[in-house]
Amino acid sequence: MPVPLRTASHPGGAARGMRRVTVLGSTGSVGDSTLDLIGRNRGTYRLVALTAFRNVEKLIAQALDLRPELAVIGDPDLHDRLAEGLRGSGVRSDAGASALIAAAAEAADLVVAGIVGAAGLAPTMEAVRNGRTVALANKECLVCAGPLMTALAAERGATLLPVDSEHNAIFQVFDHERPENVDRIVLTASGGPFRRCSLAEMRDVTVEQAVNHPVWSMGDKISIDSATMMNKGLELIEAHCLFPVAQDRIEVLIHPQSIVHSMVAYRDGSVLAQLGTPDMRTPIAFALAWPERMTAPVAPLDLARIGSLTFEPADEARFPALRLAREAMAAGGTAPTILNAANEVAVAAFLARRIGFLDIAAIVEETLQRAETIAAGSLEEVWAVDRRARTLATQAMLAREGGQSGAAAGQPAPSRPSAVASMS
Ligand code: NAD
Ligand code: MG
Repeated sequence: MPVPLRTASHPGGAARGMRRVTVLGSTGSVGDSTLDLIGRNRGTYRLVALTAFRNVEKLIAQALDLRPELAVIGDPDLHDRLAEGLRGSGVRSDAGASALIAAAAEAADLVVAGIVGAAGLAPTMEAVRNGRTVALANKECLVCAGPLMTALAAERGATLLPVDSEHNAIFQVFDHERPENVDRIVLTASGGPFRRCSLAEMRDVTVEQAVNHPVWSMGDKISIDSATMMNKGLELIEAHCLFPVAQDRIEVLIHPQSIVHSMVAYRDGSVLAQLGTPDMRTPIAFALAWPERMTAPVAPLDLARIGSLTFEPADEARFPALRLAREAMAAGGTAPTILNAANEVAVAAFLARRIGFLDIAAIVEETLQRAETIAAGSLEEVWAVDRRARTLATQAMLAREGGQSGAAAGQPAPSRPSAVASMS
């Protein structure tokens, strides 16, 4: 179903004076980049609300610097500290899950969805429900509940502006008026830190090696997702939610330099790409200023210095997460919800050094095999599926913890046609 990425309700851009912006997840990597841009353009942007989960000191520092109307901390135990830190500043404070949702509902021209994981779903949905323009970085929201979110956006006249660099690139070169002319989408992927590693070499990699992305500096969770290539798998599903292109017409191409951020191929053979220095401030600036443009403090692209751009096919045998995501997308219903939930559990366990790197995809595969896929019609059903998948993934994780099955972790999972039972 075509998604109304652009609707009649967009605010008309920066040309109309101060734009009111809320940043959900302001203390993260996307949040940092967003506030850097806003801090350089204080005459154009006014902050409505900033939110964080536990990093209360950073939230206080951001709020004292940029003076939003409201600062919200997710962990209620930290509210006293937040209120104390903001005393006398004129910035209101609040805490807890419902306060995060209320922050997303505050009147704003743009809500930046920069929370990581399905934890961002409820606040982001609230922004959509209020018909806001949403700068969407939080891809897990779409993976978890994409059809519900895009249907709600259509119903409420909300606009989803993709901030994920690949989807932002596609958004910029996609013919939204004539999607029938699009033949396929090519999502580029850096390949992550283990692009050249064998499965045996990946077996014993450390957290430090896995978070050390060769090109991008990002939060821990997405860095691990990039190392397993689950990030590209999540992005396949994200692309399918955002753009009216059939699943088998969304391709992944490894491009280690991360200069070509993605491409749209048209039926006449033309391929349009968006290029740029790998810096998230470009897609975030695009969303902040849309439909205008703003100046971003990004190093100009110097192709003569870079010299060559290279491309290679993705290898689903060494990066099974990519295959699992494609299978979940094909199965439909809540299979992507299960994939995402299991991956969040497994990545957290890897970051806590409880399991090995290859256990991540193995846990996701096992969870997809064990959890029932349904056609979720409501957010409540999505949450129930998410919870059940987390329970199953935790069981799978505990069975692997300490390396009990670690000896087998380097081996590919037993072959079977698909980990996911099809919906149809
Ligand atoms: P991060 O870990 O650096 O920051 C996450 C933010 O979310 C923090 O402000 C944190 O306080 C908040 N948060 C975490 N758990 C929360 C919870 N349970 N409730 C409320 N708030 C919570 O993450 P990031 O790298 O900035 O990524 C954010 C999102 O953007 C992710 O979905 C990621 O996939 C996507 N994204 C990031 C980048 C990047 O360059 N970092 C690029 C593309 C897409
Ligand atoms: Mg991306």
